[in-house]
Amino acid sequence: MRTGDASASRFVQCQNCKKTLFATDFASNLKVCAYCGHHHRLTWRERIDWTFDEGSFVETDTELVSGDPLQFPDYQPKHLAAQEKTGMADSVVTGRATIQGVPVSIAISDFHFMGGSMGSVAGEKVTRALERGCDERIPVVIFCASGGARMQEGLLSLMQMAKSTAAVERCQREGVPYIAVFTDPTMAGVLASYASVADVILSEPKALVGFAGARVSKQAQVVKAPDDFQQAEWVLRSGMLDRIVERRDMRATLGSLVRMLGAHLRGLEEKLA
Ligand SMILES: [Zn+2]
Repeated sequence: MRTGDASASRFVQCQNCKKTLFATDFASNLKVCAYCGHHHRLTWRERIDWTFDEGSFVETDTELVSGDPLQFPDYQPKHLAAQEKTGMADSVVTGRATIQGVPVSIAISDFHFMGGSMGSVAGEKVTRALERGCDERIPVVIFCASGGARMQEGLLSLMQMAKSTAAVERCQREGVPYIAVFTDPTMAGVLASYASVADVILSEPKALVGFAGARVSKQAQVVKAPDDFQQAEWVLRSGMLDRIVERRDMRATLGSLVRMLGAHLRGLEEKLA
């Protein structure tokens, strides 16, 4: 979304079809273009406000801060600038919330914070969100939005893939449902770890979903890829997704899924009563 210069607060331009939209209509349409249906990226706060029950979100794990183990050039100033820009401590926010009255453990990744990259803090938060689901016997919902692992943290970043995947395995072992939602983009180390091993995988329309980026994939291709290669619709046809859900239907879809899949959890019936 680009805001117009003269009347920045009144109009926005669709990033896809370039049509001009009233900012108020755009917001009430959950940042989906009324002309072409393009789903623009959301901040973590918008995602929570537009998905979970009003006032139900309580943030957790706020004490976690990222280190700079490799003394990577410019990492600290970039990290600080991202914090100032987004008001987040790192690229993932975790907590408890309810959706249509069902208590859930949630993690929301925000692409606006260093491309949603997964460093040690993001990986730890996702892991804790999954483990909280097990400890409290409530379903887990994770919204993914990431370019992948955070290279500035080197191996500490890559090991988050194994750690978070192990936490998913614990959920599966203990019968705690975990639903992942791919949003634009869900790529690389995040797709190759906790994102793609969920019990149910949903995606927003046209989200970019893949491992290597388009340029690298093109170099490695033996046969020509379809035009919508690495778009959610192609990923669905390839069998890696369960359903593409429009943003306006996400709350209802997630609500029925957590109610249905979490019905067996001890104590959840009482919590719902
Ligand atoms: Zn549009």
